[in-house]
This record gives sequence, C-alpha cells and structure tokens, in this order.
Amino acid sequence: MAQAALDASSQRASGRMTELLLSGGTLIDGTGAGPLPNTSVLVSGDRIVSIGADADIAAAASHATVIDVSGLTVMPGLIDAHVHVTLGEPASNDELFHRREPAAAAFVAAHSARRILQAGVTSFLDVDGLFNIGPALRDAIACGAVEGPTMKSGTYALMTAVGGTAGRFIPESGTAGYAEVVRDKDEIIRVVRRQVKDGADVIKVHVTGSIPNRPSEIQVWTREELKVVCDTAHDLGVRVGTHCRGDGATLDSILAGADIIWHASYMGEASLEAMVDRKVAVGPVFTFLANLDEYGARAGAISSVSDVFRNEMELTGAMMRRAYDAGVPLLCGSESGFSITPYGHWHAREMEVFVEHLGLTPLEAITCCTSTNAIALGEQGEVGTIEVGRRADILVLDGDPSRDVSILGDKSRFRHLLCRGRQVDLTPVPERTPLRSEKVSSWSAVPLTWDMAHS
Ligand SMILES: [Zn+2]
Repeated sequence: MAQAALDASSQRASGRMTELLLSGGTLIDGTGAGPLPNTSVLVSGDRIVSIGADADIAAAASHATVIDVSGLTVMPGLIDAHVHVTLGEPASNDELFHRREPAAAAFVAAHSARRILQAGVTSFLDVDGLFNIGPALRDAIACGAVEGPTMKSGTYALMTAVGGTAGRFIPESGTAGYAEVVRDKDEIIRVVRRQVKDGADVIKVHVTGSIPNRPSEIQVWTREELKVVCDTAHDLGVRVGTHCRGDGATLDSILAGADIIWHASYMGEASLEAMVDRKVAVGPVFTFLANLDEYGARAGAISSVSDVFRNEMELTGAMMRRAYDAGVPLLCGSESGFSITPYGHWHAREMEVFVEHLGLTPLEAITCCTSTNAIALGEQGEVGTIEVGRRADILVLDGDPSRDVSILGDKSRFRHLLCRGRQVDLTPVPERTPLRSEKVSSWSAVPLTWDMAHS
C-alpha cells in the first residue's frame, strides 16, 4: 500500500480525519495559472479535498479548523529535484571522501532533512549519496521516525574507474564517498540490480569525470555501457539520471535511454534535437555555479573556478531556454549539500537563475519548481499542484512570488507550511557545528622551513 494510503487509513482508524481550511488566500496553484485572489483551500488528512467557494461551504459543515490566510500567498510546497542530503556540506573532496563515517553521516542527514523542510521544501529527490543512507532516510521520514520532506532517493553514483568529479579519489573497484565503480558490463548489471534491491528510486551515472591535468570533465562511459545501465534499471521499473558536463555525454545518455539529464553543460545541436525529440527531462542545476560566481568570494571560494562556471552557465543557459521553449521538462534543483550550497538556504535559488539567465517569468519558474519537478520524483498527479485529490503539501507566505521569485528564499516570510497535511513547526532548527571527525585538519597553514624558524 502507498504511504499516503497508509497515513489515511491510520487516521481513519483513530477517528475523524483532521480538517483544515486555509481561508481567503491568494492561490498560485503550480499549474502555471496566474494568482487567484480570495481562494480557500480545504485539507482533510493528507489530501486537498476542496478549493474555492466549495471549500468554504464544506469547511463550515464539517467544523474544520480555520486559518485566516487573507493577504497571504498559498502555493504548493517547493520540490527540489537535485539534493545530496547525506554529504554534510563538505568544503572539499578531501573532506567528502576521507572524513565521513556511516553512523555520524546518517544522524547529520536527519538534521539536514529538517532544515530542508523548513525552507518550504515538502519533497525532494536525493540524486546520490553516501553509504546507502538516502533510501534509509526516505523510509525513516515516511514512517514518521524522522521529520523531513517526502523523499525519493538514489544511492551511490555509478562511475567507471576513470573517475567522476573526484579524479584520483575514485578507486579501481568498490565504493568511495558517493561513488561506486563498475568495471565491465556484467558488473554494471550486478550493481544496478543490487542498488534497486537496496531501495534506489533512481540510478545515477557520472558520464563525465575530472582527470588530473585535464582542463574540463571528459566522457568516461560509452553509449553501449550507458545502455546496459538504462536497460537493467528500466527492466526493474527504476529511472536513470546522468551527470553530463560535455555535449557527447548528453547525446549518448539520451540515445541510451536516460530519463533525466543533469547539467547538460555545453549541450550542442544534436543533443538538443534528441532531447526535444524524446522530451527527456533536464536539470541544469545552476545554483552551485551561480552561488560560486555571485557570492563565492564572500565564502572565500577560488575565483578561477568561478570564471569557468560563469562561462558554462551562459553557454548552457541559452540551450536550456531553447529546450524549454520546445517543451522539454525543465527541472529545478539546488545541488544542496556542499559548503557553497548548505541545506535550507538555497532551494529557491534555481528559480531566480531561471528568471535571470533563461528569461523565464517568475510564474514559469515556480511551475518548474512545483508541478514540473514532480517528474523528477515520478509523482506527477500526486504533488506539485494545489488541486483536489493532490497531497496536501502547501506553503503559505507573505508576498507575491509571481512578481519576485527571490522572496521564496526568504524564510522570514513563511507563515504556514503543510507537509503531507501536517503543520510544520517553523521555529528554526538550530544550525549545527561541525563534528570533530568530519573536517580535514591541517598540522600547519604552510610548511615550517628552517629559515622561518630562525628569522
Ligand atoms: Zn549533484
């Protein structure tokens, strides 16, 4: 039985369903329709059961709890299509690959999930992560043991031994950090099947990787190998998302049958044509790059990297706009999980980037981050819109995000948040300090030379 049905049946067993009326707010329903003033929304259990005048009438008859939200905006909870909830905000690959332990990382991930929820995110896709924690956290949230947004989750990212985004940290076989190395086609099949058994909702493949002494990521998978991943996963009802920083990787992923392309950096004409042809969803995940470019200096980030990323954003953004105009689902993901994109802070930032760099209207960007993002979760028709029958994931805030989408990043504007029909306590979860074990610690900032000692 689906979790929603379980929730509903347990509430039925305990008596009458809790009914809640959000009365008289301005509704942005997530379908792309413009704001509707003075529109009430009635929630029963974990479902939206009525909207508008019908909701007011039904609420009066059923003595629902009424919350006056007049003057406020009522919209779907945000969906983040690209999160790494288990990484714990590392500032370097050294830290990520060598300073993480399973049990500690799991406790920290539970804390991170609450911070993501309080940022107005009611569901997210965890694309890949450490130690198979993602599927376990998803299940812990679903059964009520941990508070957090509804999750869909991948597990380790598949890589060839050539490596992913971490160069020589990637071993010849086995797992390291968020990576799992597959060496040949038999191993691809074995590992994909095991990941599905371990609870993966999606399989992630790093099609491009960084090699020491090479200026940009290169393609490290063949189209045939990618097809083995896609065929094996699809046979088991699981989708595939591919990390592609390079045009050939995007084209080969699409032709191999990938369901979601992440980044699609430097996408060319043939890739665009294939993407449009097959309507393969794409998520540029510009937030990391945009943060580094615009605010990186404030966090002491390296400026040379910032130049590369700005260039990537300009070139790729133009292609994304063409894909969007041709009907490709454009996914909105934040890359939350790194020191440049800490949890709970940047989940609305991608919408700003879509408005600034792709020329979308704020309402179009909101639609990407709500109903379109349901595609990333495989939950179209279940979440992402305020419609009768949908899950009651609802954000109520002060201000009009259809004029200025950046206000969705400002948690001080949030007045109410419903996740699966339950009101979320918006009292901020205290930020944590780093665990002693999780930061790389240096013996000294520079080498202690003889001259230095005797000067
Ligand atoms: Zn990512």
